[in-house]
Amino acid sequence: MSDCLFCKIARGEIPSEKVFENERILAFKDINPQAPVHILVIPKEHYDSLSALDEDSAPIVSEIALVIKRLAEEYSLGAGYRVITNIGDNGGQTVHHLHFHILGGVKLSEKMC
Ligand code: 5GP
Ligand code: ZN
Repeated sequence: MSDCLFCKIARGEIPSEKVFENERILAFKDINPQAPVHILVIPKEHYDSLSALDEDSAPIVSEIALVIKRLAEEYSLGAGYRVITNIGDNGGQTVHHLHFHILGGVKLSEKMC
């Protein structure tokens, strides 16, 4: 069993505030929100980051995109929002399980870094 934090959240071993779940994907609120809406969307299967995907596993990103769109509608983010996936240490990734941040509910800075 992986002792990866997000694998444990996906298995329900660590509690999270879930906002979407199906067999392959889980979305939950970030524990340290950087915006009024800050949701993390993860594949339940472990991939270190976007860079770990291959032709077989990459379709999970299409599914995640549709979950993101659905959550943006549910959280009334029609005025706009940002989706971020950090990759590796220089990318600021602290949890090495692929995840997408949804940030919204406020006018976000135009700065990218
Ligand atoms: P990263 O920096 O890897 O892109 O993002 C990791 C995110 O996971 C951070 O925004 C951090 O606040 C969030 N996080 C870390 N530990 C937990 C946790 O135990 N529960 C939840 N819900 N979020 C977490
Ligand atoms: Zn994991």
